[in-house]
Amino acid sequence: MFHGLPAGQEDPIIALMLAFRGDTRPGKVDLGVGIYRDSEGATPVMSAVRKAEQHLAETQETKAYTALTGDPAFADALRKLTLGDAASADRIAFAGTPGGSGALRQAYELIARTAPDATVWLPDPSWPNHMAVLDYLQRPTRTYRYAAPEGELDRDAFFEDLASIPRGDVVLLHGCCHNPTGIDPAPEDWTRIAEILSQTGAVPLIDLAYQGFGTGLTEDAAGLRHLAKTLPEMLLCISCSKTFGLYRDRAGLLLALAANDADRTTLQSQLTLLNRNAFSFPPDHAGRLVSTVLADPVLKAEWEAELTAMRTRIRTLRDTFTAELRRLTNSDRFDRIASQNGMFSRLPLEPEAIRALREDHGIYLIGDGRMNVSGLTDETIPRVARAIAETTV
Ligand code: PMP
Repeated sequence: MFHGLPAGQEDPIIALMLAFRGDTRPGKVDLGVGIYRDSEGATPVMSAVRKAEQHLAETQETKAYTALTGDPAFADALRKLTLGDAASADRIAFAGTPGGSGALRQAYELIARTAPDATVWLPDPSWPNHMAVLDYLQRPTRTYRYAAPEGELDRDAFFEDLASIPRGDVVLLHGCCHNPTGIDPAPEDWTRIAEILSQTGAVPLIDLAYQGFGTGLTEDAAGLRHLAKTLPEMLLCISCSKTFGLYRDRAGLLLALAANDADRTTLQSQLTLLNRNAFSFPPDHAGRLVSTVLADPVLKAEWEAELTAMRTRIRTLRDTFTAELRRLTNSDRFDRIASQNGMFSRLPLEPEAIRALREDHGIYLIGDGRMNVSGLTDETIPRVARAIAETTV
């Protein structure tokens, strides 16, 4: 059965992660895979999460199955964190999933079931795994223009394309901290997005993997909250991998907003069935850590302070790195990095320069120039900036 099976295609980001691990040069710098790193280059367990884990170890009496859609307390806590009071609970169906990737996968499956002809529109560019999974599922996809080469939102092109997306299609939008560009719509852009979608009837699918990494927990959710308030239907895929540092433990949630309670009831039965058909029960442990942290005011404050420190560190790195690049290149070519949001920016570099950075300097960026800003440290910034300046002369 397996003889002659063609090799599966490697994921470029995972391949780069493995290449970095295999590189024995001292001083190598990993700006590739999307994992938050502190000033020591480490990704420690967040202290509030560790405390919740200790609490759970001492008090948990059973590991018996929960529900097919996961622990309702987890769903409720994340609903409030992301949507606030933008949509009442009686409009919202949910399914706990293995990470944000699981939530996206279940969203695509739901679309395939309820709207088999719907095209899913992705921003150009987007996190590559969006297209990869949709292709794998043989779903119709298209892209809309989003980022201009200068590193800003290509506003006119974006709105023009958005307005052309017909009723019944699905528009995937990054909730905040767009991956890979760090370019987010401004608050007034979200207002315009909502206006366009309410006119066209296309349904938004929001991918929210970095709430709190941009400008703040509430600020980063303001755009999607506005859509939830304004539009009758919406899908929201939430990842707790970065925001709670739970990467390998896999906590994620799909929220599906319906126009009314009757629609919500059938939607909920469909989501339950999708989970049953995919993996039965989603992982519980990580989700329970999240709901424990969010339910306890002391732990929640500790988590928020930690998240704020992460966000602030990234902002400072962006400022320092941009200033250094400006000084060394004597140009404003990299200035946009300072105002972009979240963990990623895409450096305006040719593939040849990206290869030279990796091979000659041990500096690992994704092939499209995406860098994980948090992979920089005060020590590596001068060296990375110098190498970039050298490759771009
Ligand atoms: N969406 C985006 C935009 C991401 O960057 C990621 C993680 N790289 C995810 C979703 C999924 O994250 P996970 O499955 O690890 O929770």
